[in-house]
Amino acid sequence: MSGSPEMLSCREVVELVTEYLEGALSEAEEVRFEEHLAMCDGCAAYLDQMRTTIALAGRLDPEAVDLEACDRLMHAFRGWKADPEGRAE
Ligand SMILES: [Zn+2]
Repeated sequence: MSGSPEMLSCREVVELVTEYLEGALSEAEEVRFEEHLAMCDGCAAYLDQMRTTIALAGRLDPEAVDLEACDRLMHAFRGWKADPEGRAE
């Protein structure tokens, strides 16, 4: 079978980004992945962002990045609550 390869959806691309960066995709998948990127600015930007994130984090761990953002939110939240004069209700 050597027909026209099915185009990946954006959602599939997002799901495959980690594996793509790890080089875990098959050759055929990689081709389809890159074909989508060539035509889709959104996914290209997403991949770029992932690469930057990984470069900053020094490893491939998107969940850890999420947790970090969450942690920052918690800090902001606690900062508010810790201010006793902020809320005199
Ligand atoms: Zn896309």
